[in-house]
Amino acid sequence: MTTNDRVYNFSAGPSTLPVPVLEKCAAEMLNYEGTGESVMEMSHRSPEFKKIIEDAEKNLRTLMNIPDNYYVLFLQGGGTLQFSMVPINLLVNSKKADYIITGNWAKKAYQEAQKFGDIRAVASSEEDNYSYIPKVKAEDIREDVDYVYICYNNTVFGTHYNEIPDFGDHLLVADMSSCILSEEIDVTKFGLIYAGAQKNIAPAGVTIVIIREDLVGHAPENTPIYLDYATHCKEGKVSMYNTPPCYSIYVAGEVFKYLLANGGVKAQHERDLEKANLLYGYLDKSEMFKPSVAKEDRSLMNVTFVTGDKELDKKFIAEAKENGMINLSGYRTVGGMRASIYNAMPLEGVQALVALMEKFENENK
Ligand SMILES: *Cc1c(COP(=O)(O)O)cnc(C)c1O
Repeated sequence: MTTNDRVYNFSAGPSTLPVPVLEKCAAEMLNYEGTGESVMEMSHRSPEFKKIIEDAEKNLRTLMNIPDNYYVLFLQGGGTLQFSMVPINLLVNSKKADYIITGNWAKKAYQEAQKFGDIRAVASSEEDNYSYIPKVKAEDIREDVDYVYICYNNTVFGTHYNEIPDFGDHLLVADMSSCILSEEIDVTKFGLIYAGAQKNIAPAGVTIVIIREDLVGHAPENTPIYLDYATHCKEGKVSMYNTPPCYSIYVAGEVFKYLLANGGVKAQHERDLEKANLLYGYLDKSEMFKPSVAKEDRSLMNVTFVTGDKELDKKFIAEAKENGMINLSGYRTVGGMRASIYNAMPLEGVQALVALMEKFENENK
């Protein structure tokens, strides 16, 4: 098999995966470790799959340094179902929560939560097209909220919390779908972290939820069984209430092993920094391509930029495609360009992109 005919895929999600992981999965497709069957065909109650999911959990705990008083769940329903599960399970005392609106995913989460309690947008950067992260202080939060909600990396607009906001004793919930495993995070600062896998981990289908154990078990009695975190939690064990997205979990597990073998999250973060610095460095000096967001809030994963001329943007995106660099269009409501340079994007991909941008700038002065 050759990898020469692969493109550099800058898609925001589903997105590029590490080639060595794809090669291993391909090699194991017809016969997983001598079982004579594919992981796709395997019973989720088999000893082989049990080991796959247990190892995936263990390795994620190691990578993120997740303490024992947090459950790690492998759920279905994507980030979107967490927009509902979070308020259903966590609005249990005052039924109030404060949301910081930093992009369309945060806004969707906020709108969904309205169905379940007294939800307030404590700050929003919507009027400035979400080009920065609003600064919110502990005293801006209503005193009796059940939690504060943030979207840690804004996939569409390319902004990111470059430090964990300090809201005092308030419970913090974060959507980390598009930045999980790209930086070291102190999990103990959060009550709940979730991430859909299809940005930085695995194919679509599995959503990882990391939840502190005292937050589990308080959902209202009429909560649909799948939507109650308690259904998926078992003391000291990986829980499988129903059939999990087995194949996605398997690939996620392979990505975790691959990261561990390559220096863990710390080393990955260094590689991500190098890639992002290369691209932002060019954007900062280019006279044609302009970065779209505030410098101090830049995402390492989703880099957004424009030329200021829609036709020129289109021409660049087409030329990139001809050169084997795909999915560089900005989000459908935003326009311009977005290069998603997740963990699995090699440095060579970013080097190729910057070289093309330089050439394009020279040719289109
Ligand atoms: C992609 C994305 C979502 C939505 O995920 P789905 O799995 O499509 O429901 C939510 N939040 C963030 C930050 C995302 O990037």
